[in-house]
Amino acid sequence: MQKLSGKTALVTGASRGIGRAIALRLAAEGASVAVNYNGSEAKAAEVVEQIRAAGGTAFAVQADVADAASVAAMFDTVLKEFGGLDILVNNAGITSDGLLIGMKEEQFDRVVDTNLKGAYLCMQLAAKRMLRQRSGRIISISSYSGIHGNAGQANYSASKAGIIGLTKSAARELGSRGITVNAIAPGYIDTDMTSVLSDKVKEAILAEIPLKRIGTPEDIAAAAVFLAGDDASYITGQVLEVGGGMGL
Ligand code: NAP
Repeated sequence: MQKLSGKTALVTGASRGIGRAIALRLAAEGASVAVNYNGSEAKAAEVVEQIRAAGGTAFAVQADVADAASVAAMFDTVLKEFGGLDILVNNAGITSDGLLIGMKEEQFDRVVDTNLKGAYLCMQLAAKRMLRQRSGRIISISSYSGIHGNAGQANYSASKAGIIGLTKSAARELGSRGITVNAIAPGYIDTDMTSVLSDKVKEAILAEIPLKRIGTPEDIAAAAVFLAGDDASYITGQVLEVGGGMGL
């Protein structure tokens, strides 16, 4: 039995990695999915095709989440297509690593604008619609780095810690209207984002993971589907760490 039949969802940054896995899994659970991408048009089209081939409903929508006008246009398209929105997954994110003392202002702004401001822009427009519907699920992808910090990622960690504050505040504001707002904090997940790390760094990270394996995008998608479904209806303002016990 599909858990999300009849629901509509928007997943940002769904062309690759974790967002892709979340879009596929939401669709497998019966949700109609808007697959957002920024630059990877062909990859987003593949995700849509995969969902349709499995009998699901999906379409791709381009937007740079760091740009307010672009996000507004995306919501116009999604709301027109779906007539509402039940689930928002703020997943789009980037890194631009470097030590604090050498970090450029542009580097800081770009990461915070995409990861944190992007989540705020999408959350605001989703919340406006969900308040009218008196229901909704907002799930944002934070990070282990946002909770514990990470050397070389001051910009990224700040953006991901910001997502936690955004999530908790929105949960307090929206709860009385049946809207839950939660975050997932992945540990180390095998995607394009982490493929740039050296084998030495990967081994050091693995040594810190009690479950002794690197996470997969599907591990995060499973958590997202849980938070999007009825089983999580009494959970809001929480940060679910999915990292194989990393950081314990
Ligand atoms: P990824 O493989 O690099 O994919 C990033 C996705 O975000 C792509 O679909 C990309 O779309 C999209 N994106 C980037 N900038 C965008 C923008 N301005 N507007 C719209 N979409 C944009 O990364 P990932 O590892 O799957 O990460 C997904 C999320 O999980 C991120 O928020 C990341 O911070 C978080 N996370 C990842 C890990 C990990 O270990 N991988 C751990 C903790 C948290 P295009 O390709 O179309 O531009």
